[in-house]
Amino acid sequence: MLAICEDCSKKYNIDESKMKSDRARFSCQECGHIIVVVKSKTEQASQEDRPGGEPSDGQKLDSI
Ligand SMILES: [Zn+2]
Repeated sequence: MLAICEDCSKKYNIDESKMKSDRARFSCQECGHIIVVVKSKTEQASQEDRPGGEPSDGQKLDSI
């Protein structure tokens, strides 16, 4: 995801998979401003990112 420094508008490309929690913060390398990034859980959450979901939906049809 993209994070932009509010002070100097430098853009950083943040790898969300390396974020341990929903939020992370770091200081801008250009101006030292503290940038807070909040993980966006939108589309990826419904696909492979579910930790405890049912693995497959093909087994329901074989029960008869
Ligand atoms: Zn900056």
